[in-house]
Amino acid sequence: PVLLEVSDLHARVEEQPILKGVNLTIRAGEIHAVMGRNGSGKSTLSKVLAGHPAYTVTAGSVSYMGSDLLELAPEQRSRLGLFLGFQYPVEIPGVSNLEFLRVSTNARRAQRGEEELDTFAFEDLVRERLKVVQMDPAFLDRSVNEGFSGGEKKRNEILQMALLEPLVAILDETDSGLDIDALRIVADGVNQLAGPENATLLITHYQRLLDLITPDFVHVMAAGRILRTGGKELALELERTGYEWVDQELASLG
Ligand code: ADP
Ligand code: MG
Ligand code: MG
Repeated sequence: PVLLEVSDLHARVEEQPILKGVNLTIRAGEIHAVMGRNGSGKSTLSKVLAGHPAYTVTAGSVSYMGSDLLELAPEQRSRLGLFLGFQYPVEIPGVSNLEFLRVSTNARRAQRGEEELDTFAFEDLVRERLKVVQMDPAFLDRSVNEGFSGGEKKRNEILQMALLEPLVAILDETDSGLDIDALRIVADGVNQLAGPENATLLITHYQRLLDLITPDFVHVMAAGRILRTGGKELALELERTGYEWVDQELASLG
């Protein structure tokens, strides 16, 4: 079934049109990658899907599990199984990571009609899911992301993903580089959690992430649209040829 359908999506930020007609269909069981130069609108797409208030949708639609995604508050999107991972996760001083993870996990469970987990039951679940990221349990007692290294934040994000069991996970890993350890954490997590019922959208600058995760579809974004879609070989082709053909194709579109 189709989980996420983006149709002719236009969006602006600060009066500046950025997305200019994005079309994307994501079905259960699929891994998609969106690639593209800096400034092509990749992060804007992920922020619009997350419901970031700075972004205004001016045309088009997004359907998620048959509902109008754009009508849902960001927390509802999350409860319904849309997961947004960002490169710079928030730090929340004074809130224990364990409690933060418990609250978000319980919100998702309530949506699915599952019972709330108390601290003890939740600790059992966390201990099991910690294996996905090989994270030291000591991180559960610290404040959310506070003082975590880049790799530790990534582990924590993937742990959150393992607990929330999203239907669609969108991971924006762009711009400044994640180191190879962080890429491996993301890749191992995605590969373990990807299954026939869920889907992943990787937004990435780097072919090297796609050496670790094999996408079913690769989309090339340019000037706020998806210019071309192919299979995993398209990422390798981009690595070889660069983005010059993108400029030519954009110029010919006028
Ligand atoms: P990518 O993730 O592909 O590098 P972005 O979505 O971050 O691209 O940015 C797309 C375009 O939107 C860029 O030209 C960028 O300068 C512009 N942009 C992004 N955020 C803002 C903002 N808050 N105000 C103005 N322009 C923005
Ligand atoms: Mg698959
Ligand atoms: Mg970006």
